[in-house]
Amino acid sequence: MAELSRPPATPLIFAHRRVSSIPAREEIKEDQPHAFNGNLCPRGSDTVQVLVDTSILIATGAAHNINGVARFDGRYAGRAFTTQAIRDEINHRALNANPNIPTLASAAKRARDYLVKSGRVQVQNTPQTREFFSKMQLIHTKLRELAKARQPSGVTSSEMQKHAGEATLIAIAGLYSNPVLLTNDGGASLAAAAEDPSIKSLHFGDVLKEFVCQSKGELSLDQAKLAFIAACEASGIPFEAKPEDEDDFFTCGLTAGAEACLFCT
Ligand SMILES: [Zn+2]
Repeated sequence: MAELSRPPATPLIFAHRRVSSIPAREEIKEDQPHAFNGNLCPRGSDTVQVLVDTSILIATGAAHNINGVARFDGRYAGRAFTTQAIRDEINHRALNANPNIPTLASAAKRARDYLVKSGRVQVQNTPQTREFFSKMQLIHTKLRELAKARQPSGVTSSEMQKHAGEATLIAIAGLYSNPVLLTNDGGASLAAAAEDPSIKSLHFGDVLKEFVCQSKGELSLDQAKLAFIAACEASGIPFEAKPEDEDDFFTCGLTAGAEACLFCT
């Protein structure tokens, strides 16, 4: 497999950013449900480095009717990264059946085997520095506060693990030159947006939209909508962040007969 012989990730740590490209820290309101803002400028979206959360791995594995894992690799090959904590979490989800979500373990297993174990999504080591750990700690605290504000009854141990994974991912994201967080979690999107400079987030609907555009008409609207339903069953996306009109959202402008597609041209 060609992908397996790919050289290890170039250390992108402390890559220099042009001053003009640094986005300002976003003002986060306490009651805001998420910071998802739709697809990014399409011209830049082929080069951004994506930091992949457990929720996106699961959603991708659940989108089995369109072979989501292979499409994910096709779209993000060489620029998808995750952390050891996320790798451990996806492994845990793959090994432990969840009676409330029957598709979750198989989706997690598919994503773990095809994307993470194979190295297609590259696992980054966390820098062993005091500075990095204190940054991670701050993000973790923020994630816990955001969760507590929504769920005053308290968080479960699996949610604690989830927050730990997200904190490592957001902290790692800050070390890349052009990072985008891929997550379905509204709290993680808010914590990423609150970083300085701000880190943008895309959820699985946005990722699926990229698959649609990339397929140049091969992926039908019905297939995309089915994939989205399966993905949302296995990994929820905040209601407020979902596309209002799925037919419109999961149709590439070019295949619909328009002269240009806002998302892929
Ligand atoms: Zn398009």
